Amino acid sequence: MPKSPRKRVLVLAPHPDDEVLAAGGAIQEHLRKKHIVKVVLATLGDGQRRGLLLPKKHFLRLGERRYRESLAALELLGVHRERVIALGYPDRGLAPLWQSNGSICSSRYTKVRAVPYEFARTPHALYTKAALLAELQEIFCQERPEIVYLPHPRDRHRDHQALYLFAEAALHQSALHPQRRYYLIHYAGWPLPAGRHPQRPLTPPRRLRAQTWLNLELRPEQLQRKCEAIARYRSQIKYFEENLFRFARRNELFALHAGPTHESPSLSLHLPRFLAALRPARNSDRSRG
Ligand SMILES: [Zn+2]
Repeated sequence: MPKSPRKRVLVLAPHPDDEVLAAGGAIQEHLRKKHIVKVVLATLGDGQRRGLLLPKKHFLRLGERRYRESLAALELLGVHRERVIALGYPDRGLAPLWQSNGSICSSRYTKVRAVPYEFARTPHALYTKAALLAELQEIFCQERPEIVYLPHPRDRHRDHQALYLFAEAALHQSALHPQRRYYLIHYAGWPLPAGRHPQRPLTPPRRLRAQTWLNLELRPEQLQRKCEAIARYRSQIKYFEENLFRFARRNELFALHAGPTHESPSLSLHLPRFLAALRPARNSDRSRG
């Protein structure tokens, strides 16, 4: 009897660490079931709210360091480094990229206008909306994932909101319909309390309770492994230890629908209009032969 093909899973992370905080348990569970898991890091977290006056070299080194931290954390969960795809778009710059129309953006931190990392999927790709959309679309078409983990549109971090928009637009263009599993990281201090509470369950924020949430209970050894993986993000642990470990709970939660767009943050309101505008463009391309 022919073996059934292994399920393919993509985890999209705006910054190195989101993949493990949100889905460190889910990743282990997919691997346990022999699914193929790949992780896409949209930025390398090469920005820092404080420190704008530091030289660009500092931020490039930070990006490289955070990439290595992700590789180490994911390796611990069983994801080989070849399955980690770094894109290298600007940290704290995905929302301006989404809102730019055709212009080239630059990073306020690294001061570059193109992907500066040689190990990225496409080194020197210009920081344009079209380039990131095309790159995600290519990844979706190559990988043909059945399940995609991506930021929840109500996440308060603008990079997270923007990656949601980029991913939905790229899926729309690819005409693929994987199951989406939306995760929250930044949402008004959620989950409370901060710090380590591994035995407490993660519950949906009150305002989003009406959504359908997939609850994944972690096995004790999966939770243990997730904690060890979180500890690999040393550059972040240094400043945000309490925030990082608040996601090491006995379960993980994923919304199965993005929710009504009229409730979404300002950035999301552009999505339906943007998707509608994509269709005629595709048709006219085809008619030109
Ligand atoms: Zn993030």
